[in-house]
Order: sequence, then structure tokens, then C-alpha cells
Amino acid sequence: MSKNVLILPGDGIGPEIVAEAKKVLDKAIALFGLDISYSDGLLGGASIDAHGVPFADDTREKAKAADAILLGAVGGPKWDTIDRAIRPERGLLAIRSELELFANLRPAILYPQLADASSLKPEIVAGLDILIVRELTGGIYFGEPRGIRTLENGEREGYNTYKYSESEIERIGRNAFEMARKRDKRVCSVDKANVLEATILWREVMDRLSAEYPDVELSHMYVDNAAMQLVRAPKQFDVMVTGNMFGDILSDAAAMLTGSIGMLPSASLDKNGRGMYEPCHGSAPDIAGQGVANPLATILSVAMMLRYSLDMTEAADKIEAAVSVVLDLGLRTGDIMSEGCRQVSTGEMGDAVVDALR
Ligand code: NAD
Repeated sequence: MSKNVLILPGDGIGPEIVAEAKKVLDKAIALFGLDISYSDGLLGGASIDAHGVPFADDTREKAKAADAILLGAVGGPKWDTIDRAIRPERGLLAIRSELELFANLRPAILYPQLADASSLKPEIVAGLDILIVRELTGGIYFGEPRGIRTLENGEREGYNTYKYSESEIERIGRNAFEMARKRDKRVCSVDKANVLEATILWREVMDRLSAEYPDVELSHMYVDNAAMQLVRAPKQFDVMVTGNMFGDILSDAAAMLTGSIGMLPSASLDKNGRGMYEPCHGSAPDIAGQGVANPLATILSVAMMLRYSLDMTEAADKIEAAVSVVLDLGLRTGDIMSEGCRQVSTGEMGDAVVDALR
């Protein structure tokens, strides 16, 4: 049966990098005879400009009908001063939440060809292969009550609520244990159980779940230590599982270990494996429209989409191999450029992956 992929280019560099990813997907469809159809939609700033809201009904309907969604990135200075409730990032939070995409998988893999691009010494990062499993639809980013209020003394106060229910912790925990089973069978659960009650419960539930996965080793780490360990000795980790906010921060730190945030894909899955796939980075307004953005994170997101939501593993493997070939050829966008390599544009990088895909 034909699989439908909803394409949401978004804002900033989003349309540029998604165009390259789509070229690669088109080639994969032709090469491997994949039965995939596309639909298109708007999200974020592009949707605000067209419909006045970041996540309009038309996109909502298409998203609910799709087997998978490929997203570029949303946001930019143009929309930074509009009403907070309809900013582009709210569209992103809404689509994740309404589709119940609670499990965000962010691999941080260092391609050997890019060992020099990391800010850490090659011996510390060479061979790095971490999977960060971030809870995506709960925690402090969604907790109510939230807001900015004026106190009796006239001073303003900002407040948010950090909460997790047992079932929310359990489902992300299971996801992490299952992922670890396919890897090195180690899960490190990251919390702040010395200070935050929500994460005391988090730790309790992880310990309880661990009994069901005796083949997987569970450890716990406070988030401040985890941040330190990620830059001190990152290869000690296999799967890291954590809440929404800690995962947001740690996965960006892990991204830099790999040389560039422009290399990292991500998947956000619901309980049935339906998902939204997007690069870990944002819309990079500072380089939008210049044709210099690295499209590889988005291209690798297509590979994750084929693997996790569309059950088209061979095509996923081949796309990842094609990316590796292109790096072997010494082609680099500006963000991963190093001596002796050839700097290419966004479009040239996309074309090179298409050529290498066989
Ligand atoms: P960003 O990830 O967009 O950019 C950070 C830095 O990385 C910039 O210097 C940028 O030029 C560079 N960069 C990012 N992607 C790149 C790529 N593919 N190739 C080369 N360089 C790349 O983060 P930011 O600057 O903090 O945020 C910019 C906007 O993106 C904001 O509006 C923010 O809210 C939004 N944002 C969206 C998402 C998302 O859509 N998932 C995630 C993060 C930030």
C-alpha cells in the first residue's frame, strides 16, 4: 500500500534543505521502486504568513493522514515579536503534541571523515555513537500552569510547571530500553533527582522498568554531571534517556561533539511508529537564502524516516552509505569544512548524495 509523506519545509533554511532531501528521496523511490506519495503543507512562520496561525487545520488534517512527516525547521526573527501564543515554535510544539510524538530519537554519530570538525580531540570523539532518547510531549515545556503574572507588589514573575506522570515516564523509558536492545544494551537515565520531585519519580519508574529488561544495564546520572561527562568522555554512553528540557540541551551539546549540528537527524515517534523527521538544528536565519546550509541532517532524517516509519530499511541503509561516500570524496558545506576538502553549496551537496546513491 502506498505510504504518504507530508513535506513541511518550514522557514529560514528549511525550504533549501528539504528540497535537497526530497531530491534524494525521489532518487530512492525510482531506484528501489518505493511506493511513496507526497503531500505538502505549511508550518511555523510560513503558516502564520498564509493563515495567521503556525499550525493550521489544513496541515493538521494532512499530518493526521500521513504515514510520516518530513520537516525542515521553523522560526525566525520576522515572527519573534508577534503574540507568544502564535509564534512559529508553538506550531512545532502543537504538531508534536497533537500527534502524540512523545519519543524523540537523536543519534549523535561522529563520521570518521569529520573527526577534525569536532571541537574535542579526535581520540575523545572518534567512533562516537550515542542515541539520545528525549521525552517530547511533556515536562516543563508543556506543564500548566504557566505564564508571566504581576505580583501584588507590582513586580512581574515568570513561572512554569515541571511535571511527569508515571505513564509518560514509562512509555519513554520502554522506548529507550527497546532501542538499547538493538545497540550496546546500556541505558543512562538523566535526571535531577537531588532537587526536583518530578525526576525523583522519573528515577523510580526507570528502576522499576529495568526489571523487565534484565539484558540492558541501567545507570542514572544527574543532568549537570551528564553535561560534564558528555564533553569529558562521551564514548561512555550508549543510550541516554531524559525529559524534554534536559534532552533539548544535552542533544545540542552532543551535536557539537560530532562537528556540526548540520549533520544530525532526528525522529519523533508515536506509539505506533508513525513519526515526524527533522534535522536537529533550527531554521538558521543567519544563513538562509545563501545556499550554504548543510542539507545532510535532513537527508539523514529521510533515512531515519524510511527505517522507522516506512519499513524501507534497504533504502535507508543506502542513503546513509551515500552520505558517507560523499564525505569520503572530500565534499563539505561551510559548517564542516576542513583543510584539503572542497567546499560545496547546499544544492551541490544534495546532488552529490543523489549521484552516490545506488
Ligand atoms: P539554529 O540551529 O537555527 O542555528 C544555530 C547555528 O547553527 C547558526 O549559526 C546556524 O547558521 C548554524 N546552523 C544550523 N543549521 C545549519 C545547517 N544545516 N548548516 C549550516 N549551519 C547551520 O539555532 P538558533 O539560531 O538558535 O535558532 C534560529 C531559529 O530556529 C529560531 O527562530 C529558533 O526558534 C528556531 N529553531 C527551530 C527548531 C526547529 O524547527 N526544530 C529548532 C531550534 C531552533
